[in-house]
Amino acid sequence: PIRSSSNGSTEEEKTLAMIKPDGVLGNYTERIKMVIVESGFSIIRETITQLDEHRASNFYVEHSSKSFFSGLIKYMTSGPVLVMILKKENAVADWRTLIGPTDAQKAKITHPHSIRAMCGLDSEKNCVHGSDSLESAQREISFFFGEISSGDAVGEHDEL
Ligand code: GDP
Ligand code: MG
Repeated sequence: PIRSSSNGSTEEEKTLAMIKPDGVLGNYTERIKMVIVESGFSIIRETITQLDEHRASNFYVEHSSKSFFSGLIKYMTSGPVLVMILKKENAVADWRTLIGPTDAQKAKITHPHSIRAMCGLDSEKNCVHGSDSLESAQREISFFFGEISSGDAVGEHDEL
């Protein structure tokens, strides 16, 4: 579904990218978008939104039992986020590689050219989000944008 190759040409994937509140408030948006485009992704949709506690908790529901959850929700609701759908061959894995590891402090050492190394602060305030699998990408795209393109049979997460 998320792959499309009606004419046998390159199979492209979509993933969800987000510039988190620290990235938006720190004025990293344009720099990050430049890296995105220079890395061969197309930004096919984008929107700025302010998450409330309910929406942030739903987005990160997989982490609801973690000790860092309440801090994460406070962080994610602290300002606007910029959400984008990125399209490219192998978009999910390539975007994860480009953003680097979760802990921005470690990223600065092990992945100095990653986006989290560039603009993240620590293991919480790490500036950007990326879907971790095709399934997550479908869920997260649908979460922010609803049903986007014809042929993308998502639709089972409307309750979110
Ligand atoms: P990601 O997929 O690399 O974003 O990382 P996870 O899915 O594991 O965690 C989601 C988000 O929760 C991360 O991007 C961080 O903002 C935050 N987070 C993850 N691990 C920790 C942690 O150990 N401590 C704190 N304070 N926040 C964390
Ligand atoms: Mg994750």
